[in-house]
Amino acid sequence: MSEALPYPLEGVVSWNMNTTCNYRCSYCTQRFVESRARWARDLPGFLAAFAALPGDWEIKLSGGEPFVHPGFLSAVGELARAGLRVSVVTNFSASDDELRRFAELTAARPGLVSASLHLEYVDPEVFVARVSRFREHHRGTLCVTCVATRDALPRLAALAQRFAAADLRFKVQPEKQDRDVIDYAPHERELLLSLGGHNETGMIAANLGGRLCWAGARYLIVDHVGEAYRCYPARRYRREYLGNVLDETFELRLDPVACEYDYCNCTVPQQRGMVDITAAPAAPTKGAR
Ligand code: SF4
Ligand code: SF4
Repeated sequence: MSEALPYPLEGVVSWNMNTTCNYRCSYCTQRFVESRARWARDLPGFLAAFAALPGDWEIKLSGGEPFVHPGFLSAVGELARAGLRVSVVTNFSASDDELRRFAELTAARPGLVSASLHLEYVDPEVFVARVSRFREHHRGTLCVTCVATRDALPRLAALAQRFAAADLRFKVQPEKQDRDVIDYAPHERELLLSLGGHNETGMIAANLGGRLCWAGARYLIVDHVGEAYRCYPARRYRREYLGNVLDETFELRLDPVACEYDYCNCTVPQQRGMVDITAAPAAPTKGAR
């Protein structure tokens, strides 16, 4: 085990539990997936697999839009009853009642609610009001995110001020096309960095190749059929497969190992101390793209 990179006490699973969504954002990274109508069906199997993970874990639910999964709230309740922290990435289109129920179910061990503002669908003032109402019930962390498309970019500074005035944390996320961050012009990069970079990491497209990372041991990505990968880049390139959480093929790593990728869009490991983002840039990693 690395002394320089302490063991992360709480592991994190990013569970993309469905591909279904009630929006069709023009920049959605899932718009090319084979089907936008799929969701995790064997919920008891997933719940048993997550409850059996070694140590302490947070399950971060995303999709698609997780609130449109037909078993969403019952899955949240079961995960919380199993002692897991439950977080969610949502477009915040669920009803106030459903959102309040989520807060109630997770109250014993609340997680992060990441509310994605999609300007193609929602008026920011309506969004501020909805998130503010939800905050009355939610005891965990709450933030608003927005994808920095070229159309959205000129509005982001004002939006950041508006959310700050409402005492809401606002993070920007670079737009991706064909797996990579779009080719922002220098002044656009400057603006993005002035807003904190990708999810307040201070970077737009992090290259952490060669650095030790706990992803694969204390962080993993699971899709709606149970396929598990070390992290998002690993899944994108179909490398570092961890097996399927619904059967005996699943195996977590035990230690941190070097990152094989030249673009890390996984801000969970970056922000939870699972990879040392302060270390000197690494030499190109063999096999990294
Ligand atoms: S809300 Fe999210 S998942 Fe749904 S279409 Fe928009 S970007 Fe894609
Ligand atoms: S891409 Fe990011 S999460 Fe994946 S191994 Fe590299 S540093 Fe870790």
